[in-house]
Amino acid sequence: MVPSSQSAKDVLATFKLADNIYVLGCLEKGLTIYTQQVRALNLVWSMIEAEPDSLHDVAIVGGGFAGLTAAAGLLKKGAPRVAIFERHAALCPLQKGSDIRWVHPRIYEWPDEGSELPTAALPILNWNAGRASDVVIEILNGWSAIKLYRAPNQKTEEYTNVKHLRVTETLDIEWVGEKLGEKLGSQTITTGYREKFSAVILAVGFGKDSATLPYWRNEQLGQPEMGLGRRVYLVSGHGDGGLVDLFRIRIAGFRQDRILADLFSDAPQLKSRLRELKQKLSQGLLKPDELYEQFEAIADNRGSGFERIRAQLQGMLRADTMAVLKLSPKIDSFRGIFTSTISFQNRFLLFALYKAGGVIPYSKHAMDMKDQELENLICEEYGIKQSDVVRRHGMKPERMITEVLDKKSFANIEDRLKTLGAQTQTSDVCWSAGYWDERPKGLTRIDPDESTKRVWHVEYVPPATELVAKGFVAAVAGYLESIEGRESDFRVTLHRTLIIGPDPWLQQVTDYMGTSKREGSKGRTFPFNHGTIGLAAVNRQIARTRLMHPDEGDATYRESSQKDMKELKLDEFAQKMNEEVRSVLAVPMLDAKGEYAIAVLFADSTKPDIFTHERISAIVTMSETFCSQLKNIGGGKLWNFQWNFQPSVGRPTAINSEGLEVIEILESPTPPRAGEIRYLNVEFTDFIVAQKAAEHA
Ligand SMILES: Cc1cc2nc3c(=O)[nH]c(=O)nc-3n(C[C@H](O)[C@H](O)[C@H](O)COP(=O)(O)OP(=O)(O)OC[C@H]3O[C@@H](n4cnc5c(N)ncnc54)[C@H](O)[C@@H]3O)c2cc1C
Repeated sequence: MVPSSQSAKDVLATFKLADNIYVLGCLEKGLTIYTQQVRALNLVWSMIEAEPDSLHDVAIVGGGFAGLTAAAGLLKKGAPRVAIFERHAALCPLQKGSDIRWVHPRIYEWPDEGSELPTAALPILNWNAGRASDVVIEILNGWSAIKLYRAPNQKTEEYTNVKHLRVTETLDIEWVGEKLGEKLGSQTITTGYREKFSAVILAVGFGKDSATLPYWRNEQLGQPEMGLGRRVYLVSGHGDGGLVDLFRIRIAGFRQDRILADLFSDAPQLKSRLRELKQKLSQGLLKPDELYEQFEAIADNRGSGFERIRAQLQGMLRADTMAVLKLSPKIDSFRGIFTSTISFQNRFLLFALYKAGGVIPYSKHAMDMKDQELENLICEEYGIKQSDVVRRHGMKPERMITEVLDKKSFANIEDRLKTLGAQTQTSDVCWSAGYWDERPKGLTRIDPDESTKRVWHVEYVPPATELVAKGFVAAVAGYLESIEGRESDFRVTLHRTLIIGPDPWLQQVTDYMGTSKREGSKGRTFPFNHGTIGLAAVNRQIARTRLMHPDEGDATYRESSQKDMKELKLDEFAQKMNEEVRSVLAVPMLDAKGEYAIAVLFADSTKPDIFTHERISAIVTMSETFCSQLKNIGGGKLWNFQWNFQPSVGRPTAINSEGLEVIEILESPTPPRAGEIRYLNVEFTDFIVAQKAAEHA
């Protein structure tokens, strides 16, 4: 997830069909839910940054993952009106209720580092690997939450069962559909409409496949046969969809999201070798038609670990099925499949399945047969019933785009459509951390109320990071409780630095712990220079509220604290500081050279003077212990893989604290250092022993 360095204008140009008409991913290759969501957010980011004036009334055609993510991004950034049009009766209709398909956000990146991370780690509509039907529930819940917390001046409209949708050159749209929430008794009202929009996003997907068993529909290919003999299937089409079905037919209990983790748990060296091959392929150092030979070389090498995987796969082969894989007429041998653009993981699995004797490739290219003739011949030879032919022949996405445009607007884009080739719309993240809750430029200013702010800036925190941080935060809370007692009021949490894009951000990684009833939940992400936490992070020094002067009244002290918080821009982003708070402490944890803060411990209390020098020293010692433990677990990398730490803005300049009346910066003790640790980011894979051993090998 290395942020792209492309400019907003350039990114926007890749989506543009005509003025203010954008197409979202439909013509790209190797699409996944995750990459479509990243594209959706890239599109919204580039629209906001390059053409904010077009965002007043945005129409999104298509209520799948991409359309919903674009709508969610627009709402988060304050677009006044977003309307979604879905031709089916529900949002995400393709995958809704799909219990037989397992999806994983990055599995098509396998075996790249980080590809096993089971979360999309997206700031908006995040989801985790699982059954497609469950992923839809996660996404729709996220969508409902975003709608709930939109500003009062923002409008969302959702139309389902939309028919006859036509977009004109002047961005008028006419359609017949049912507006969500508009009912007559229990009956949804269908109405014909015509309205003007300022921008149209076509998130129409690729269409339904014409197969007898459409890909996302529930069927029984993966279940044991109830008949007594072996059932023979013909799989026609060897793109990713066809191959996944081939694996389901032949591998017992096949789960696309798990198979590689299961097969490779004891084969880290082989995985590294495959990673190298994939990298070489993407860098052009290995030609696609050389890949098969490379796989063969691995299989021939006794020490490669392949033999064990082959044997394991053989043990997993289903005893109730057989599968013939019909090769496309364009390919003259099994080897030819490996030159195509299917995912690397499926290419390797196909190779392993072949070596395990699990698939029979079939071609008759010399006979120059038509596709249907060849299919008939295979069915005849193997006695395959028509109902056991699985066809996965790809989609016709152009049609999805052209059918929504009226004659004139189609004429305008006809040439452009031809130039919109695959892989032009980047799926590298273009926005920076925290971007989606930053004040929008040029759009309606959103002023979230205090309760909205509680949930306003939430981004993904890896559960393993939260768990590790929680142990430490609980220890500090325990220490304070041992002094202040149970009846006191204090709370502690930890924020980590995130650099995604040019600017650093701070993210709260645990819920508050301590005796206070004042809440504040994990995940909230703030600009690096806000509040006392920001002051400590930017200046790389401990910040706290000074002790109260003996003759200083409580009211004066409170007033001065509130003034300081204003100065430090606290309530622009975060919740307003509770007026009862009298003590605040922020302890930054620095990198080895002391150049930047990787995290900031934060604590506050309604009691004055609780952060004495002595207690701060004790907390610093605890923080040092935490830092020294971190390097034993992981934490040097973000999203499970490493890239060079080079924030393009450089280190933020120190905040001048001279004007502050209550918040002070301490010269001593010096903040703890985290050694080589660059990010406070621990993933579940940091606990996997085999992986660690391979990394150290
Ligand atoms: C065979 C196959 C296997 C796949 N396997 C995986 C996988 O394992 N993992 C993975 O992550 N991804 C997989 N994908 C890709 C995944 O399906 C897409 O990335 C994802 O669905 C993209 O979402 P989308 O919103 O762009 O398109 P879609 O999900 O297709 O949504 C488009 C929506 O637009 C609606 N629509 C279309 N035309 C109109 C119109 N004129 N008016 C109103 N509404 C309209 C449709 O009804 C649909 O709801 C697979 C795709 C295929 C084809």
